[in-house]
Amino acid sequence: MSGRRGVTILGSTGSIGCNTVDLVERRPDLYRVEALVANSRVDILAEQARKLKARLAVVADESAYGALKAALAGTGIEVAAGPKAVVAAAELPAEWVMAAIVGAAGLAPTLAAVRRGAVVGLANKECLVCAGQLMMAEVERHGATLLPVDSEHSAIFQVFEADQHDKIDKIILTASGGPFRTKSREFMADVTPEQAVAHPNWSMGAKISVDSASMFNKGLELIEAHHLFAMPEDKIDIVVHPQSVIHSLVAYVDGSVLAQLGSPDMRTPIAYALGWPNRIEAPVPKLDLAAIATLTFEAPDPVRFPSLRLAREALRAGGSAAAVMNAANEMAVAAFLGRRVGFLDIASIVERTVAGVKHCELTSIDDVLAQDAEARRFAATLIDGGR
Ligand code: NAD
Ligand code: MG
Repeated sequence: MSGRRGVTILGSTGSIGCNTVDLVERRPDLYRVEALVANSRVDILAEQARKLKARLAVVADESAYGALKAALAGTGIEVAAGPKAVVAAAELPAEWVMAAIVGAAGLAPTLAAVRRGAVVGLANKECLVCAGQLMMAEVERHGATLLPVDSEHSAIFQVFEADQHDKIDKIILTASGGPFRTKSREFMADVTPEQAVAHPNWSMGAKISVDSASMFNKGLELIEAHHLFAMPEDKIDIVVHPQSVIHSLVAYVDGSVLAQLGSPDMRTPIAYALGWPNRIEAPVPKLDLAAIATLTFEAPDPVRFPSLRLAREALRAGGSAAAVMNAANEMAVAAFLGRRVGFLDIASIVERTVAGVKHCELTSIDDVLAQDAEARRFAATLIDGGR
C-alpha cells in the first residue's frame, strides 16, 4: 500500500470517469483505489470496482443498492448508497479525488474532498459556476489543491505563469463551435437530441455534448476560468477553433502568447492532473501537425449562440446569477434531451429564468442550494408551460 497514491473517482461510470479508470488501471504501481462513485449504472460500477480492487463502491440512487451489493458479493468491497454515502466517499482519506459528477449534484461531494485538503482533479465545472467564490475560499482555507481537468483550463494551467499574474493580458479559451457551428438558427430550431450530442471532435456525456452544441459549455468555462485563474471577465476571450488542437492560450503584456496543443483526447488533461506535479504517460494519439496541416480560427457568433452573452452577463452580475443560470441550463438541457423543448428554447429558458428569479449574495453553500432549487422550480414552470 505504501507509496501509492490513494485515488477516489466521483462519477466513475461517466465519460471522464471511464477515462480516469483507464489511466489508473494502467498504473497499479502508482495508484490504489479508495472509492468509486456513480449515479446508477451498477454493472459498470461493479466491474470497475472489481478490476481496480476498490475499497468502496457507492451508488447515489438508493434503489440500486441491492443490485450493487449482489454484484460485489464475496469480493470484500464495501458497498453503500444514497447522497450521504456519496459525500462520505469523498471524505475518505484518498490523496487525489477526481470530481467528475455532472452538474450541481457534484457540489457537495467535491466540497467534502476540498475540506479535507485533498488534491482535486476538477472536471465538474458546474460546481465552480454555481459556487465559485465559496469553493475557491474553501480551497484556500483547507490547503486543498484544485487541478483543472477541463481541457481548456488544463491548457491554461500548463502555460500560466502564476507569479506573473499582473503581466497577463488575456486568457483565450478555444471552442470547437460544436456540431452546429455552420448551421442557421432555422436549422437549429428543429434539431434532435441525437444531432446535438454528435460532437465533431470529442466523445462526451450527453449534458456537456448539448452544452457544446449551444456553446453554453464555453459560457460555463468562461466562469470556471474566472474563478480558477482570478481573471476578470473582460480579460477572458473566446475564439472558435474547429480542429480542437490548440486547447487554450495565455497572452502576456510583452506580446508573447503561450498555448498548449494536443490531440482531442481527455486522457491528456486527466493524466496531467493525475500525475501532477509529474507527468505520466497517456495512451493518446500523437499530435501530427503535418497531417492536420491547417488550424483555423473565427469569432463566435453572438446571434446564433446567445449563451456566451448570458454567461458574461451572469458573471458581471455576480452573486447568485451564475448559479441560477447553471440550474436553468441543467433543467433546459434535460428537457431538450427528453424531447420536451426545442434546442433554441434552451437559451430562452435560461434567459427568462435569470431575469425571473431574484438574485442574492451567496454567503454559504446553503444559499447556493436554495438559489439552485428556486431556479429549477422557475425553469420547470417555463418548461411545463409549453415555453
Ligand atoms: P457523464 O454524464 O458521462 O458522467 C457523469 C457521471 O456522474 C456518471 O458517472 C454518473 O453516474 C455520475 N452522476 C450523475 N449524477 C450523480 C449524482 N447525483 N450522484 C453521484 N454521481 C452522479 O458526464 P461527463 O461527460 O463525464 O462529464 C462529467 C463532468 O465533467 C461534467 O461536469 C462535464 O461538464 C465535465 N467535463 C467533461 C468532459 C468530457 O469530455 N466528457 C470534458 C470537460 C469537462
Ligand atoms: Mg472544455
